[in-house]
Amino acid sequence: MTAAADERDAGLREDERALLRGLASFAQEAVAPLAVAGSGAQDWAGVQIRDACRRGYGGIEIPARDGGLGLSYRMRARAAETLAATDFAFAFAFINQHNVALRIAEHGSAAARERYLPGLLAGDLIGGTAMSEPRAGSDFAAIATRARRQDGGGWVLDGEKAWVANAAGGELALVFAQTDPARGPAGIACFIVDLRAPQCLRLTGAALEGLGAAGIAGIRLEGYRAEDSDMLYAPGQGFQMALAGVNKARTHIAAMAAGLLDSALRLAVRHASARQAFGRPIIEQQGLRWSLADVSMRLQILRMLTDRAAGLIDAGSDEAVPAAAMAKKYAGEECLDGVSACIQALGATGLLPAQGMGRRLLAAKALCFADGTTEMMNERIAAGLALRFAGTAPATVAGATMHREEGMSYQALKLTRGEDGGTQARLTQIAQDELPEGEVLVEVAYSSLNYKDALAITGKSPVVRSFPMVPGIDFAGTVRRSADPRFKPGDAVLLNGWGLGETRWGGLAQAARVPADWLLPLPAGLDARQAMAIGTAGYTAMLCVMALERHNATPEGGPVLVTGANGGVGTVAIALLAGKGYTVTASTGRPQEADYLRSLGASGILDRAALSAPGKPLQKEAWAAAVDCVGSHTLANVLAGMRYGAPVAACGLAQGMDLPATVAPFILRGVTLIGVDSVYAPMALRAEAWRRLADELPRGMLEANTQELGLSEIAAAAAPLLEGRIRGRIVVDVNR
Ligand code: NDP
Repeated sequence: MTAAADERDAGLREDERALLRGLASFAQEAVAPLAVAGSGAQDWAGVQIRDACRRGYGGIEIPARDGGLGLSYRMRARAAETLAATDFAFAFAFINQHNVALRIAEHGSAAARERYLPGLLAGDLIGGTAMSEPRAGSDFAAIATRARRQDGGGWVLDGEKAWVANAAGGELALVFAQTDPARGPAGIACFIVDLRAPQCLRLTGAALEGLGAAGIAGIRLEGYRAEDSDMLYAPGQGFQMALAGVNKARTHIAAMAAGLLDSALRLAVRHASARQAFGRPIIEQQGLRWSLADVSMRLQILRMLTDRAAGLIDAGSDEAVPAAAMAKKYAGEECLDGVSACIQALGATGLLPAQGMGRRLLAAKALCFADGTTEMMNERIAAGLALRFAGTAPATVAGATMHREEGMSYQALKLTRGEDGGTQARLTQIAQDELPEGEVLVEVAYSSLNYKDALAITGKSPVVRSFPMVPGIDFAGTVRRSADPRFKPGDAVLLNGWGLGETRWGGLAQAARVPADWLLPLPAGLDARQAMAIGTAGYTAMLCVMALERHNATPEGGPVLVTGANGGVGTVAIALLAGKGYTVTASTGRPQEADYLRSLGASGILDRAALSAPGKPLQKEAWAAAVDCVGSHTLANVLAGMRYGAPVAACGLAQGMDLPATVAPFILRGVTLIGVDSVYAPMALRAEAWRRLADELPRGMLEANTQELGLSEIAAAAAPLLEGRIRGRIVVDVNR
């Protein structure tokens, strides 16, 4: 461990220091013998990568809830540096494996996470990311690998990928593919591909000199079938996520360059201190010592640039883009010269294969183009300059034309992850080209504050899958630009769900860019504020009512129970059901609001304490239908109190995620439990729900039930909402 490394370690926790020590000794023990094999002759280091994963190093940045260590990105960069001091190619392959696991942990479907994460963390599955193609590298938007949607569900992939780490022997690849060439970058999606499938051919036989351990190979997909659950990024997200991941990839490269240069310098100094010429160690010759002094200074600068970029990435800062590009550019330019100076100090011994300097020289050249050429780094730094000092941005990013007007920026609530892992919310300006890819740019007029938004803003529950994030699970506004014929500038639109505010920047901002497939025209009879007064909560209430109707609930059937009555879903559900002639009983923990609930149409009030404790599996047959926003014991008691054949629509978990019930209500009374999901509900159901809300919800109810806040007041309202201290709905005027 060098003095410089010691200084940087001072700010680390003991477990973080132990991780780096463990990785260094693992590299010496397991990876060094591989590296000594020379430059061209190295085989893929699959055995060693699996070994590292088995020792628990495969999940450094992966959240603890997913089985990882839950450390910062900065620690992963330090891990990459530590490994690269022994072998750059191994570090490169290992970090690629970690990237695959992290992307799946952050963005994979529940099925994909279950299917792949345990294997990736245990080293049973090894993967790499497949972006480049024989005819598309830095010009990523030009990729030609096609993904075609199948009628019965799933996708078929065809095309060829180049330079995929770990593809020589690994099991998985994250393959970026075009779903609709006419849509350009907005058509790019990403799929988890099993490389063992017969429709997947590995193109090995052209191992890169000096990088054999990384197992870099091509793959050809011929009619490969991917399940829907193996789509990692939907069309419109793929391009954005590829660009988002690239800051980390560039900073890794810089970190690995630092490890590589550090090890070269140590070899050179040791040799020059021992080797005598003209009666004294050659390090005492001024020309040589100055040359090595320069290398050590460049190494320090490289580490400073790398640490800065890693810190900005962890903070979710916009400055991470130019900072990562600077670190990578500096690495590319200085590492090659630095290694060359070290070889000069070693003389002919520097070219003995056992020294590994030839391998370092080749790696130092490779890092000038891996994950973006030095020329591309210049472009990113220059774009950052223009945005920072002149308020404009150049017209292309990574070679792809972005839909943007120069100089536009918008106010947004932005969530970042602090160094302590906590969530920080702040009002900030976002440039238009920071918005996610999508065909339609919407100027948001109103959003709303929901239970899920409050969880995201306070960080009380891991709702947000990647940072930085703009929260806001719904919005209504006006189309400003559209590349899709279904929408034109000036159209009034609304959007809710689809992972908005969780995996995709959401509505608590003055603008949002979204796929056209997710947008709905604002239904006739509603303006943007009214739509958000209804919001995801009201729309979910309508989905619940529609679910009950599909299961034959009628006003004549008997009384209906609504739990969580004073909440956003509960209040709208009461108004909708009462408006249709149902007799509604409202279960609430706030009896002081009984008059208000009656004004919405409730005819009975039930203290929620009567439902929230463990109860008998079968109780008096009281309810002909129910909407449950609460889950846990409350839902168990609701089920136990249903009449024969009655339906229960379950949408919430305000009391808890658990369901401590028995099967008795189902098998003895034929009760039906209907799950209601608003996020990914099909478009036809959404359109019907919104049309019916416009027709059926009394406008007076909306006004009485709604309070309005400005964007700047939202962060402070999140905690009271979670504590159940807010009645009804909060609409957010994003322009104040
Ligand atoms: P709110 O926070 O507005 O309302 C929840 C209500 O539940 C509270 O007002 C309170 O009502 C009641 N409640 C709170 N804590 C408890 C508790 N510990 N035990 C019993 N009751 C409690 O949330 P929303 O109405 O917006 O959402 C309701 C639920 O539905 C949430 O869990 C939310 O996550 C979920 N949801 C699910 C959707 C889906 O797609 N499935 C979409 C939208 C929401 P009171 O004071 O009257 O007792």
